[in-house]
Amino acid sequence: MRLWSRELWRIAWLATLGTCLGWLLGSAGLGLAAGLAVCLFYHLRQLRELYLWLTLHPHDEPPAARGMWGELFDRLYRYQKSQRITQSRLRSTLARIQESSEAMRDSVVMLDRHGDLEWWNSAATAMLGLQTAHDRGQHITNLLREPSFISYFNARDYSEPLTLTSPIDERRILQYQITLYGDDERLVMARDITRLHRLEQMRRDFVANVSHELRTPLTVLSGYLETYSDIADQLPPRLGKSIHQMQEQTQRMQNLVNDLLLLSRLEIDQGGKDHHPLNLGPLLQSICADALALSNQRHTITVALESDARLLCSEQEIRSAISNLVFNAVRYTPAGSQITLRWQGNAAGGGSIDVEDNGEGIDPVHIPRLTERFYRVDKGRSTATGGTGLGLAIVKHVLLRHDAQLQIESHPGKGALFRCSFPPSRLLAPSK
Ligand code: ADP
Repeated sequence: MRLWSRELWRIAWLATLGTCLGWLLGSAGLGLAAGLAVCLFYHLRQLRELYLWLTLHPHDEPPAARGMWGELFDRLYRYQKSQRITQSRLRSTLARIQESSEAMRDSVVMLDRHGDLEWWNSAATAMLGLQTAHDRGQHITNLLREPSFISYFNARDYSEPLTLTSPIDERRILQYQITLYGDDERLVMARDITRLHRLEQMRRDFVANVSHELRTPLTVLSGYLETYSDIADQLPPRLGKSIHQMQEQTQRMQNLVNDLLLLSRLEIDQGGKDHHPLNLGPLLQSICADALALSNQRHTITVALESDARLLCSEQEIRSAISNLVFNAVRYTPAGSQITLRWQGNAAGGGSIDVEDNGEGIDPVHIPRLTERFYRVDKGRSTATGGTGLGLAIVKHVLLRHDAQLQIESHPGKGALFRCSFPPSRLLAPSK
């Protein structure tokens, strides 16, 4: 403010001086005009100095000036200097980030808000075949053209990673993970999981082969045991009891082998070929009849058809999943319990098949782990009821193949609800 008032004083002083001199020379008006012209000339000259400095030598020291102009030059110079320091700090941080991303074995690709390529590390060149000169500025889907990648990229739901073969080497398996950041920009990371994938495949093949190989000897064993059990009354009582136990255990092993084979098939086979629109009424009624036979009339089992929408599914797989849920309800609830099978929903909001009982329920601490293989709440009870420990793992796999989810709600003493939720895309209007 001090400089500003000094500047005003300077103008007033020059105007007064000009007026006085003009008055002495016979024209006060002309004198005032001359005084103001001197002021104007001075400020125009400083403005020119500023312009020349900023356009021609912005990195040099500012021109020497006094008063308000001197202060203005100094401030601009200091501001420029601090801006330059911040810029170089940012540049070196960016360089360090790029250097560390460069050293990563995973591919890192930075995209702008339109999905065009901005920067990528050398791992991305090796894994995805991105070429520095040609590909910068291209849209990512022009270079990674696999339809499943394009729909994953466009869906903008990156909660789960996507597994695909490398676009330049079919033998390499990559796992893509996309992260949204900043102003709608995206970071695409790709990891080579070929080794892990191979190990997983070996595990699956091993389980499938062993289960398959066990099938024949078990069939032979159970065949002989059945023959012996037919003549059990002619054998000593101790032997008859052993044969009965052997039969039970062989049956358990057969159930286990069948469940393992089913799980392997669900994991290996892509699925989807036998998906047709299915009217769920007859299917649920038939599962209900099987469950009543298993329960031996000890439970009340009802079917509630609250929707006539059809479900796009594999009948065999859905039968297997829902049967597992209903048979569990029969096995883990006391006699006299009520079990309900319910189909509800519509093509707009999706639908669900519920299996609900009013039995003893499950402690919520077990619920997150129930679908793990061989996880049991009470091992003794599960074995006694003939459970293999794979039932809910099968249900989860079947539902995954139908874009569906299993929700479990239960509390001790309050029964259990197993809900299979299907997305709207799986529901079709009833056939006319
Ligand atoms: P299992 O062959 O042991 O039945 P599952 O995977 O089918 O294996 O079930 C896992 C566990 O979940 C069972 O051991 C049982 O303790 C529990 N469970 C499943 N359904 C019910 C139910 N309706 N009520 C109570 N517990 C249940």
